[in-house]
Amino acid sequence: MEQLKENIHTFTEDKPLDEKEMGELLSIAGEMLEKNILPCTACRYCVSHCPKGLNIPELLELYNEDSFTGGGFIAPMALMAVPEEKQPSACIGCRSCEAVCPQQIKISQAMGDFAKKMEK
Ligand code: SF4
Ligand code: SF4
Repeated sequence: MEQLKENIHTFTEDKPLDEKEMGELLSIAGEMLEKNILPCTACRYCVSHCPKGLNIPELLELYNEDSFTGGGFIAPMALMAVPEEKQPSACIGCRSCEAVCPQQIKISQAMGDFAKKMEK
């Protein structure tokens, strides 16, 4: 309900973006598409559906961070604090999270990619 109210509030005022704002927005969106950033909104609908109890939005945030920076130190460092059974490599690819994701993110694929990247 809280999220619904926030969304309604966002659209209460009809104030279109000006040309500069729109340009900036499209440029960020273009960069995100180029770097394969996943559009997770952290709604957490998927979390209770994961049989492995993975913190999917947190892992996807780190995955995006790693993709955006082209492999920085933040994601590997943050993952060091995550127990082995909650790492991206613990994903069994069941895809039950994907069935409820409103963003239709290929979560199991992202977990596999992320686990491979972190092996290097
Ligand atoms: S595909 Fe992976 S992340 Fe998704 S529910 Fe199954 S184990 Fe969890
Ligand atoms: S359901 Fe999709 S958008 Fe929501 S937290 Fe999970 S991965 Fe992110």
